[in-house]
Amino acid sequence: MPVWQHILYSAEITAEHYGRTVSVGGWVQDIRNLGGISFVQLRDRDGVVQVTAVKKRNPELFAEINSLQRESVLLVRGTVKESKEARAGFEVLPEDVRVLSAAESPQPLGVVDKVGADLDTRLNNRFMDLRKADIRAVFRIRAAALQGVRDYLLSESFIEVSTPKIVAAGAEGGATLFPIKYFDKSAYLAQSPQLYKQNLMASGLDRVYEIAPAYRAEASDTVRHIAEFTSLDVELAFIESSEDVMAVAEGIVDSSLRHLLTAAKADLDLLGVDLSVPEPPYPRIRYDDAIDLLASDGMKIAHGDDLGTEGEKRLGDIVMEKHGALLYFITEFPTSLKRGTFYAKRYDEDPERTGYFDLDYKGQEIVSGGQREHRYDVLVEQMRENGLDLEAFDFYLKAFRYGMPPHGGFGFGIERYVQKILDLPNIRETVLYPRDRVRLVP
Ligand code: ATP
Repeated sequence: MPVWQHILYSAEITAEHYGRTVSVGGWVQDIRNLGGISFVQLRDRDGVVQVTAVKKRNPELFAEINSLQRESVLLVRGTVKESKEARAGFEVLPEDVRVLSAAESPQPLGVVDKVGADLDTRLNNRFMDLRKADIRAVFRIRAAALQGVRDYLLSESFIEVSTPKIVAAGAEGGATLFPIKYFDKSAYLAQSPQLYKQNLMASGLDRVYEIAPAYRAEASDTVRHIAEFTSLDVELAFIESSEDVMAVAEGIVDSSLRHLLTAAKADLDLLGVDLSVPEPPYPRIRYDDAIDLLASDGMKIAHGDDLGTEGEKRLGDIVMEKHGALLYFITEFPTSLKRGTFYAKRYDEDPERTGYFDLDYKGQEIVSGGQREHRYDVLVEQMRENGLDLEAFDFYLKAFRYGMPPHGGFGFGIERYVQKILDLPNIRETVLYPRDRVRLVP
């Protein structure tokens, strides 16, 4: 059996192993040398195993262990013995210790230090930052949240697709595009799979989703924007209105939060997060009503303007007070606000309004979407109105001429979602290696 398969994680060792020989592997968290006996706290993915080395049993081994720096990596074979003193209730008496990697000192980041390092130092040394159980918990929770997302989408017969991240035209407008050199052409990093997922609606793959990076050259430095985020994109056909799209967004979030309650319980407990799972349907608040609610709370926003970060936050407080809701939709965004999104379907009876919605979580937008315009002539008109070069969008437009069902979808920012689940102050905490205006390494 390969070594990695016969190593036991600390959490796998139970009373059944007492008296038996096992192999454990991990990082030296601490060594306490009492002269004739040394206690090594060996940390692995799940916890800490105490390895107790006795000098007179093996003086060479004893000397080697005591010469190690913290964070060195060991493979230890030894006997498990019940121990009242060891935190895990047992210790391992080593027969064979292999130093797989000796760590240097001084170290760029303390793993068990009481004093916290600043975020920049942590991110610069992310591999060591992740040695802390509470930091790893964030990424296990993120993975479990995505599992819950996939469970729902699979149960509704969506299929997972991958679309190009090197593209010729942007979907969301020019300002936040990253230009790149593509052989002898210029291209961009994809801001969103919007045009492709709509294209697929004409293909017979009429319920799709993608979980992939999206790139935005965000000029502002905020705690909720990064240059590379993970976008969950969903698109479905044969819908009647934006309400059908909202129901999918709601189903995803509900499935994901419920999955966390069981699959991520230990990690949520470790972080002290008491996760609340609101019962769908989530309240729907029309954009116009949101503006009025804010006005009655003393915050004046002109009808047709963006709510802005502050407006969203305030609205979150008001909705909490009025409906006790952490999650709610803001619906029927005006056409003027969705100017950039030439593909939004406007109401036939009132072209100044769309069925477009945001889903906000604790006062922050996490999802944005709605029904798209699927009628070729109307779409062309809207694109012209937005000053788009129709030729550059030929591949996109073509699909609307040969049989395109009514459809809609949304973009869902996974990092913002995780940030809100865990009430983290900065979105960067939810990304292993964040990218922003200044951060390109590691
Ligand atoms: P905002 O107005 O907050 O910048 P947006 O309107 O540009 O967001 P959309 O283009 O509608 O966002 O994207 C859909 C979702 O993708 C957002 O609700 C958000 O969750 C996520 N998202 C968008 N831009 C970013 C970013 N720079 N960093 C992290 N997540 C983002």
